[in-house]
Amino acid sequence: MASSVISATQTSPLLQFQKRSTRTQSFQIVCMDYPRPQLESTINFLEAASLSSSFTSSSPPNKPLQVVIAGAGLAGLSTAKYLADAGHKPILLEARDVLGGKVAAWKDDDGDWYETGLHIFFGAYPNVQNLFGELGINDRLQWKEHSMIFAMPSKPGEFSRFDFPEVLPAPLNGIWAILKNNEMLTWPEKVQFAIGLLPAMVGGQAYVEAQDGLTVKEWMRKQGVPDRVTDEVFIAMSKALNFINPDELSMQCILIALNRFLQEKSGSKMAFLDGNPPERLCEPIVEHIQSLGGQVRLNSRIQKIDLNQDGTVKSLVLNNGIAVEADAYVIATPVDILKLLLPKEWKEIQYFKRLEKLVGVPVINVHIWFDRKLKNTYDHLLFSRSSLLSVYADMSVTCKYFCVAKVIYAVKFSLEEFRFPDPQDGYDNQIVKYKGSKEQEDFASEEDARDSRVQGCSRGYRVDYKSLKIQHMPKPTPEANPEAADANESFASISNGYRKEYYDPNRSMLELVFAPAEDWISRSDSEIIEVTMQELAKLFPDEIAADQSKAKILKYHIVKTPRSVYKIVPNCEPCRPLQRSPIEGFYLAGDYTKQKYLASMEGAVLSGKLCAQAILQDYELLTARKQRSKQTEATVV
Ligand SMILES: Cc1cc2nc3c(=O)[nH]c(=O)nc-3n(C[C@H](O)[C@H](O)[C@H](O)COP(=O)(O)OP(=O)(O)OC[C@H]3O[C@@H](n4cnc5c(N)ncnc54)[C@H](O)[C@@H]3O)c2cc1C
Repeated sequence: MASSVISATQTSPLLQFQKRSTRTQSFQIVCMDYPRPQLESTINFLEAASLSSSFTSSSPPNKPLQVVIAGAGLAGLSTAKYLADAGHKPILLEARDVLGGKVAAWKDDDGDWYETGLHIFFGAYPNVQNLFGELGINDRLQWKEHSMIFAMPSKPGEFSRFDFPEVLPAPLNGIWAILKNNEMLTWPEKVQFAIGLLPAMVGGQAYVEAQDGLTVKEWMRKQGVPDRVTDEVFIAMSKALNFINPDELSMQCILIALNRFLQEKSGSKMAFLDGNPPERLCEPIVEHIQSLGGQVRLNSRIQKIDLNQDGTVKSLVLNNGIAVEADAYVIATPVDILKLLLPKEWKEIQYFKRLEKLVGVPVINVHIWFDRKLKNTYDHLLFSRSSLLSVYADMSVTCKYFCVAKVIYAVKFSLEEFRFPDPQDGYDNQIVKYKGSKEQEDFASEEDARDSRVQGCSRGYRVDYKSLKIQHMPKPTPEANPEAADANESFASISNGYRKEYYDPNRSMLELVFAPAEDWISRSDSEIIEVTMQELAKLFPDEIAADQSKAKILKYHIVKTPRSVYKIVPNCEPCRPLQRSPIEGFYLAGDYTKQKYLASMEGAVLSGKLCAQAILQDYELLTARKQRSKQTEATVV
């Protein structure tokens, strides 16, 4: 029986299917509601892919190295993943009882999630995007329209957009987006800023690096860009990138971000993860590491780095006193923790001494559940441009349910008409007609449709495409036996096929990054909520009042991070350490270490890869070291 090959790509929440020439391959859905941009052909993506494949392409080592890694944030997870890919044995030790570090999240008693930070994944994150692909979880990113949307403080409740047209390549799409927006930048300001950027275009990386000595504000003044632009436009970017204001942030940070985001067509396109990061992102990495013989242990805090007489690492000592010995050691904690762990014997070494300049910046992540659905919002990240808040999103809108049984969508489109499940069940309600459409022709016959139905069964579902009835298994796992399924359940009751962690059709949950937080980090939660509500009243003048006379707060969670990513003040760049330290067998990973992305998830993942690469490059040295220490042990005995 022939089966259909269907590739779904789309530009709206509705499905669009493209017909492929062959009808002999197995049924496949490429994209659903949130079409992934074409990233695979970019140079950066290919470079990142090539680095990934360097770990898997060489033959496994004769003697795998045991590598202890402290810290299961994205940097530590990435180090462990790529070492495991190369056939080595990472042991990842995390101090807390949760994975993810700055992407950690927790579930409250009502089953609602709250997080360390509101996290956005960009198209210009090649190593993160490769990682998702390598783990087979690309569909967990819910991509948004290619726009940047800013609140207008001078017009409460209104927004101004930078829309990147699909039809133009980079950087023209970005230039077009900037030129088309006249609400945030006047024409003379655009011209002034463009002239200011000319040296960056001509001078390239050398020019960008040379700007590290200036704050954003100083640089703008030097270029003759009016303070208004800094205070009203670049404030949003500074706070989003590093949680500080333009009078503190190094201009190099803005130039790097502009370069990364505007260089690729989809570089500034944003995606939300479809659920909480520890489970939806970190756990698949852990499963991967474990499947290759690596270990990941929670509640394992490193308390001390114990040294040999020659100043190299003897062991990492846990807070319960247990010493863990290995062939190589990686500290993937935040830089502030590393500084506390540094043995006194190392403190005068320039490589470590320079770390003094790198200090984590305080930030607060606020979550408020309201008693109603707020209307003045978008299915997107929003830049508040308020003095106390940075970016925010209505997570009940941006993070939709995710589908466990994707195949249902594909089968549905063979129907004359189908309905997205009802909002009451937590789904969009959308009537979609494919009758007579070109797309419908993809299913040439009932046989084809039936064949796809068989594929559906492998996920625990069976669809009667004629009656709109779905038989489903209580647990939609591949192991589920479709024959035992309940028959005749209606289409809207397939909730087992979906999970929603943030999505709510009736209530809004705003997640807001509160920054700069220096003056607020030690204040009480109620004070922070009070002032946040005052800011929200400006963003939602019709719906929110500071005294809750309009929307009422059902509950809130506040997560404070007194030392988050390193503060990118001028002249920090030379202080960022390479992943290989001057101490034999001792390495660093973390978003603050040297890599071409800023303090970000991409930076953390890349730092982990570079760390793993440095360890592999040192393989001979590390095995020789191991041999030497065995001989010493034998002599001592
Ligand atoms: C509010 C907020 C919003 C953000 N938004 C974005 C965004 O939108 N996009 C983006 O790309 N980035 C964003 N970031 C930045 C991003 O989260 C970080 O750059 C990245 O996650 C850092 O990863 P890391 O592994 O380097 O460090 P961390 O995530 O800090 O990981 C370090 C790990 O080490 C562990 N540890 C500490 N001490 C010890 C010890 N003694 N022994 C063992 N383990 C230890 C910690 O518990 C932690 O798990 C945001 C950050 C915050 C705080």
